[in-house]
Amino acid sequence: MSSENHFEVVVIGGGPGGYVAAIRCAQLGLKTACVDDFTGKDNKASLGGTCLNVGCIPSKALLESSHHYEKLSHGLEEQGIKVSGVEIDVPAMIKNKDNIVSRLTGGISGLFKANNVTSFHGRGKLLANKQVQITANKNETSIISADSIILATGSRPIDIPTAKINNKNIVDSTGALDFDGTPKKLGVIGAGVIGLELGSVWSRLGSDVVLLEAQNEFLPAADKKIAAEAKRQFKKQGLDIKMSARVTKAVSKGKKVLLNYDDSSGQHSIELDKLIVSVGRRPNTDNLFAPEAPIELDERGFVEVDEIWQTNIPSIYAIGDLIRGPMLAHKASEEGVAVAEVIYGEEPELNYDVIPSVIYTSPEIAWVGQTEQHLKSAGRKIKIGTFPFAASGRAQALGDTTGMVKMISCAESDQILGVHIIGPQASELIAEAVLAMEYSASTEDLALTIHAHPTLSEALHEAALAVNNRALHIPNK
Ligand code: FAD
Ligand code: NAD
Repeated sequence: MSSENHFEVVVIGGGPGGYVAAIRCAQLGLKTACVDDFTGKDNKASLGGTCLNVGCIPSKALLESSHHYEKLSHGLEEQGIKVSGVEIDVPAMIKNKDNIVSRLTGGISGLFKANNVTSFHGRGKLLANKQVQITANKNETSIISADSIILATGSRPIDIPTAKINNKNIVDSTGALDFDGTPKKLGVIGAGVIGLELGSVWSRLGSDVVLLEAQNEFLPAADKKIAAEAKRQFKKQGLDIKMSARVTKAVSKGKKVLLNYDDSSGQHSIELDKLIVSVGRRPNTDNLFAPEAPIELDERGFVEVDEIWQTNIPSIYAIGDLIRGPMLAHKASEEGVAVAEVIYGEEPELNYDVIPSVIYTSPEIAWVGQTEQHLKSAGRKIKIGTFPFAASGRAQALGDTTGMVKMISCAESDQILGVHIIGPQASELIAEAVLAMEYSASTEDLALTIHAHPTLSEALHEAALAVNNRALHIPNK
């Protein structure tokens, strides 16, 4: 192998796990290459993985656009603002989303150049002896080698045999980011994060949305009180959420989709214009390893790693959606940084207990740490404080008073164990809770911290006070 084709680190996958790992390796002075196979809508290489191309960023662009549309259509009358003739130009909205994506993915190429990361466009396959085969367009292959390899190939949507994706009227999350118009009747299989976010986008733009969820519990990972409030708000917005719904068949008939499902009330048939299948994601391991590089997977198909993200083969690491833990971009990136530092010889720490989760619906939902139900079932003695946004001056001024902040602390030490928010700007507000928990803060620490007035963050301050029945702007129990 010529020295030109040998690197200290090769990263396979250029998503938020892989590209961040590559940049951090290069910052540490390691000769680094990144192999990524994503091709954008313009048929060109596009770094950033699922997150930048078909995940976090495009979905948030559509959520923002549809939120503006909804607000202008019927969200401002109370403030004396009358707007008429509001129209949505779906192709223009999609083009704006595509422009945002290409600006950001182009930004990653720029960062690679600035940091001297060598970028290969093609499909990577792990061979024996830490070699990587790259299959580029037209099936041309080349081989590079490395001292260390980071696998960061991410995940892709799970498909189900009862609703086969045809990329016309039965789509996965990627297809749902590119509708050319607002479907009149939209079905969504799976009322998880993607179903709720993308269902909200199209509902705000006028679709009649039905979500079919197999489980009988709505958002089981969220705190029960927050999940119940979320369900109430989504129903109020017109999202028809059917629980314990088992889809038996969905087929495309001309321009329509005919879908059959069972639930506790019997068998049902519905006709849809579009159907989104969003029932979870699975790790991208197909064809990733040659038989001579037998990387072990766990029982769910994720790459098995130890506490320093090393696989069963020494000096081969894995991060992000490819391994256990929440499938979140910020989790992937932090693992990318940490593994780069491991390779460099450091002993980084990553606190999995304080990874924030956010659902970017309206109201937004965000949490960090543990839920009340989880702590109670673990037998922990806890204290709880809640503060409704209706009692926040800033939320009143915003005209957005839905929801609350719920804070949970240890009854003995007062250390904050979980913060759960549903309401305006929950995605931004949660950062304060994450920081507090990272520093093992107590609710008293948070209560002693001066918050600017009037801000939404005062709701966190009040929830911290409420834990010890000291809230100033709500009656204490
Ligand atoms: P990925 O981002 O999946 O990147 C992997 C890259 O590797 C891809 O470019 C892929 O093409 C490439 N690849 C795969 N196999 C090979 C191979 N053999 N050779 C070369 N390249 C290969 N998370 C959040 O935190 N916040 C959000 O708001 C959010 N919104 C989302 C919205 C949607 C619609 C979706 C689908 C996901 C969303 N996620 C969100 C999840 C987030 O996108 C993922 O958790 C994150 O992208 C995982 O990063 P990763 O680097 O592990 O993998
Ligand atoms: P999810 O796990 O959040 O939700 C999938 C839902 O589909 C679950 O409620 C599940 O019970 C249901 N389901 C499974 N099989 C079903 C079936 N046959 N019929 C009906 N319902 C069924 O997964 P997702 O929404 O596809 O998202 C995938 C991943 O992407 C998530 O793990 C999430 O972490 C990540 N993501 C994150 C964000 C964010 O951070 N805001 C946004 C989108 C996606």
